[in-house]
Amino acid sequence: MADYRKMWEELGMDLETHDQLCEVLPQAFGDVYLSQENRPESMDYYNMVVADIHGIRPAELIEHQKEGGKVFGTFCVYVPDEIVFAADAIATGLCGGSQFWVPGGEKVLPTNTCPLIKASVGARLDRTCPFFRIADIYVGETTCDGKKKAWEILGEDVPVYVMNLPQMKRAKDVQAWAEEIADFKDKVEEVTGNKVTAEKLAESIRLINGKRKALERLYETRKNEKLPISGRDALLISQIAFYDDPGRFTQMTNKLCDELEQRVKDGVSVFEEGTKRIMLTGTPLAIPNWKLHNIVETSGGAVVCEEMCTGTRYFEHQVDESGKTLDEQIQALAKRYMNINCACFTPNNDRIDDILRLAKEYKVDGIIDVNLKFCNLYDTEGYFVERAMKEEGIPVLGIETDYTDSDAQQLRTRVSAFIEMLNN
Ligand code: SF4
Ligand code: SF4
Repeated sequence: MADYRKMWEELGMDLETHDQLCEVLPQAFGDVYLSQENRPESMDYYNMVVADIHGIRPAELIEHQKEGGKVFGTFCVYVPDEIVFAADAIATGLCGGSQFWVPGGEKVLPTNTCPLIKASVGARLDRTCPFFRIADIYVGETTCDGKKKAWEILGEDVPVYVMNLPQMKRAKDVQAWAEEIADFKDKVEEVTGNKVTAEKLAESIRLINGKRKALERLYETRKNEKLPISGRDALLISQIAFYDDPGRFTQMTNKLCDELEQRVKDGVSVFEEGTKRIMLTGTPLAIPNWKLHNIVETSGGAVVCEEMCTGTRYFEHQVDESGKTLDEQIQALAKRYMNINCACFTPNNDRIDDILRLAKEYKVDGIIDVNLKFCNLYDTEGYFVERAMKEEGIPVLGIETDYTDSDAQQLRTRVSAFIEMLNN
């Protein structure tokens, strides 16, 4: 890893604590990723991104700021990046996926808050993540109760702008979301001092659609009988999509897809024939949360799809590119984003339909419904997910977990038994 200490120091980071994180990450990455056999060569790019995760991209963001640009930190797939990029600013994901940050969050949040929120708050307050230091402003949303209150706490330390996401999907809700997006555009213009024009927005809609298409292409290769890429690698790519430069990410992911499509033609698989195909559904798996994928894929299964925000919910559905005016474009954005099916909506039957559709498309043998501990929304919705899968005869295993390793052994036992059952 190159020496970024000066940069971290200037960001006001707690270097001593941060060193501890830098020590454990390479080991974890090596165990989960580099130990895999026959990985696609193009994974080198993503390996490099992770190896310098707190260096390369943060340095780029700082460079952008030195040139007068702004950085917006986001936490949810409903926040439209297109608006940010249209104002020559950069949007970067900030979700925390490591137990390392959880105790910092617990200093100010109830213990029974989901680890994603605790880690995100801890990463900021403990000053151990450069991305959280760099962002000029955070963009929150009113998705779940824990997040709503977390914005207020974070707002004491950093500027936070909150988008009011409706929680039903009637025509008037889509309209309300379009109005929120229009307000967000005004805020982005105010923060950046740049105007979002129809031309600029059309350009950024194409840019982000390009990223979605690349991810769609990647996932398409996972529908094959012979799997050219592991679930672990696909997850890593989804996670990196949240903060990498979108143009470069698209280019590198398309390059990887060329290789994967060639592998499909050549009949190359990273799994043995007959390996059970597992789809994960549920709460997001933010970087570096690789726990469940690792357990599944070292217990005789292959993860072929994630119905998650770090998965299909991030890239499915393009924004209609035909809008000529800002109004039309904002309507198109609202429609596309309201097509995402998060458990914070009621009713949320479309998500069940999505899971059933994906199970067929990816020819899954079984589903693991993953719930981050204390996420009441997904936990409760698990009732409908599991019932629908049972009705369709798709084996399903419900799992609740957090970022610690304390349940790893128990999870491994349950996942192994589930896969064993699929084999019989
Ligand atoms: S699970 Fe819901 S609240 Fe969380 S990132 Fe996804 S859409 Fe946003
Ligand atoms: S996992 Fe659940 S509780 Fe956690 S941030 Fe997402 S919706 Fe909220």
